[in-house]
Amino acid sequence: MTDVRWKFDTVVIHGAQAPGEWKSATLAPIYQTASHRFDTAEELSDVFAGKKAGFIYQRLRNPTNEVLEKRMCMLTGGIDAVVTGSGMAAINNALLAICQAGDEIVSGNSLFMSTFLLFNNVLKKLGITVKLVESGDLGAWKAAVTPRTKALFVETIGNPKMDVPNIRELADLAHANRAPLIVDNTLATPYLFLPIDHGADILAYSTTKYLNGHGSAVGGVVIDAGRFDWPEEKYPDFRLFKERKGKLAYIDKVWREIHINFGTTQSPFQSYLTLIGLDTLAVRMERHMSNANRVAEFLDRHPRVKWVNFPGLPKSPAHETAKTQFRGKGYGALLTFGLENEKACFDLIRNVKLVYHLANLGDCKTLVIHPWSSQYISFTEESRLANGITPDLLRVSVGIEAIEDILEDFDQALRAI
Ligand code: PLP
Repeated sequence: MTDVRWKFDTVVIHGAQAPGEWKSATLAPIYQTASHRFDTAEELSDVFAGKKAGFIYQRLRNPTNEVLEKRMCMLTGGIDAVVTGSGMAAINNALLAICQAGDEIVSGNSLFMSTFLLFNNVLKKLGITVKLVESGDLGAWKAAVTPRTKALFVETIGNPKMDVPNIRELADLAHANRAPLIVDNTLATPYLFLPIDHGADILAYSTTKYLNGHGSAVGGVVIDAGRFDWPEEKYPDFRLFKERKGKLAYIDKVWREIHINFGTTQSPFQSYLTLIGLDTLAVRMERHMSNANRVAEFLDRHPRVKWVNFPGLPKSPAHETAKTQFRGKGYGALLTFGLENEKACFDLIRNVKLVYHLANLGDCKTLVIHPWSSQYISFTEESRLANGITPDLLRVSVGIEAIEDILEDFDQALRAI
């Protein structure tokens, strides 16, 4: 049982644990079953009708996944959640439950690559227009919002632009226009930032990153603060869900309408791995972020490095907002930096010995990537530049190894260019 007085660092380990129900096991059991058996037709009918809680079929809901959903709600201030097969599924589901052809979304333009492609290509094909604006330019957001705007969307730390928008201002703007604010808080994690406390309505996370922390499972979660009231004149298709579930209407809609029918299921084994990783989120983030500060300062002083972009550096344009808005524990653990040219970036990647070169972030290991030639290779040059990707840019996800070893590896790799 969870004690309401427990602090974040305790809830992250013990939240939603049910040892009695689990035959006293201390890890959530993996309910590896496609479906669940019912003794009577009446019972199954009640569960399908939503009159009774229960599990029917893995694509719908699963008991292991539910532990992760409940714990994430406890950590973020949400009232209900759905875990999904990936962070992209979470973003997609969060929006498709709200929008249909003819609707508009206003989004910050500092976006993870696949989110950018989802918005610009996929949603466009479905007749949903996403207007991209400078994340930190409130005037641009205001100018883009129209009566057709069904949601505002932003990343709390932009990947990889490393900008930090003011969430309270965006929530106020969204609410003045009777629309919800949806945030992707993947890079900040709930350890660093609680967007619901700043007015955000819906959270989308990739659990693949810091929440899991070990690169062992892909996953996502959509979480609802339960505060947005989905006014009838703007969101008429919420009526049935509101009648059935009241404040829980949004997640019910995500779940019944999108998640089930698009099949964006998370396997219980992935949730199990994520829950094991989640246990250590608080201690990992503390180390991730102190190491990131040290790496940023080191690179900033290094003669081979042209520039560093990290919200923790006082000269960063994101620094002041990050300092006042975040929970005072750090500035995240992702940073970008620039070298002489693309060749120097390739050299560094070849030279590192400890640091892994791969496409992921938020792992406990330190990671590096050259986005221009990898994740963004299919983008036009113009589009890469608009996304903040330049040929001289390397992105580093700072891990939790001994800081001396991380600095030493970057130093030798830089010197050998
Ligand atoms: N959101 C952000 C900010 C990300 O960085 C990523 C992946 O890197 C995603 C969403 C997508 O997550 P996933 O890879 O779990 O689908």
